[in-house]
Amino acid sequence: METSKSDRILGSLMAGAVGDCLGAATEFKSLESIYRHFGPAGLTEIHPPGRFTDDTQMTLFTVVGVVRALLAENRPSSEQWTNAFHVAYLEWLRTQEVFSDTDKMRGSWLVHESTMYRREAPGHTCLSALRSGETGTLQYRLNDSMGCGGVMRAAPVGLLLGDGFSRADRYEVGCLSAAVTHGHDGGIHPAGAFAAMVGDLLCGATIEEAVVELNGLIPNDLQELLDFAVEFGSSGAIEPMSLCDELGQGWVGDEALAVAVACAVSGPDIETALLASINHDGDTDSTGSICGNLIGAMVGINSVPKRWIDDAAQSDLIRQVGADCVAFLDGDRSPLFSARYA
Ligand SMILES: [Mg+2]
Repeated sequence: METSKSDRILGSLMAGAVGDCLGAATEFKSLESIYRHFGPAGLTEIHPPGRFTDDTQMTLFTVVGVVRALLAENRPSSEQWTNAFHVAYLEWLRTQEVFSDTDKMRGSWLVHESTMYRREAPGHTCLSALRSGETGTLQYRLNDSMGCGGVMRAAPVGLLLGDGFSRADRYEVGCLSAAVTHGHDGGIHPAGAFAAMVGDLLCGATIEEAVVELNGLIPNDLQELLDFAVEFGSSGAIEPMSLCDELGQGWVGDEALAVAVACAVSGPDIETALLASINHDGDTDSTGSICGNLIGAMVGINSVPKRWIDDAAQSDLIRQVGADCVAFLDGDRSPLFSARYA
């Protein structure tokens, strides 16, 4: 049966949140201590209430940024994209620093969701960049961070820049979204690559095809790493010990995307791939989240294990954001819709 675009959009957001929930339980554990805690197969289930972390929180605010930019302009300029992302991520920052209902600022409907007001090990670069009062761009780099905080939140750029936008557009806007907080090319280009891939997956490409399509668009060293990730992931079941040895631990942007890509192609199903992406020595919630965004865009919501969706707290909120994305792409510009993203 054909997987519809709306199923893929919701699948990408939900599988990303599920990967994040799974990886949150293993993030600061070595592989050895994962085995000690969860047994010889590692972590295999979400222990409810599974809580998604900053990776999913910021992904949802990327939706806010993209929708808001496109409500204002059909073809936003680089500056308009940057401003929209900056304002959206400042809303996220408020959810990390303001814990009182009375102090919420005007903003998208997400800042009025009390369950968004949770601190789940947010990334240092994101916090400090947003607190600086400055906005990073491709020309004005705020810092020298190549952390994965830019790439892990970029999927909605690929999900929402549909008809009328090219792969190169998705790459550029993905890079702009990361540059708001991350100043090193290694923190920026993987976000663009990720957004471009998600856009292709949404249209029916495989992970392998989406990586091939990046050729000529992204820097050569990143292309070589992703080509290797595909080769490594396709060569059989992922061996957890060798995953980080071969591709890195995922704390930086290019490694996080490479680990996620390798796990995503390792299959044979979404469960195996997601569990590979969160049972290792590295930044498991980010690699789990990115891997989930990739596979979910390919296989759709109906292939995401139902028990994992049930065990993930706030899956209703993910469904609502997914429904909003679909409504927006279907042309909903009603006052009611617009007001929720004002
Ligand atoms: Mg996290």
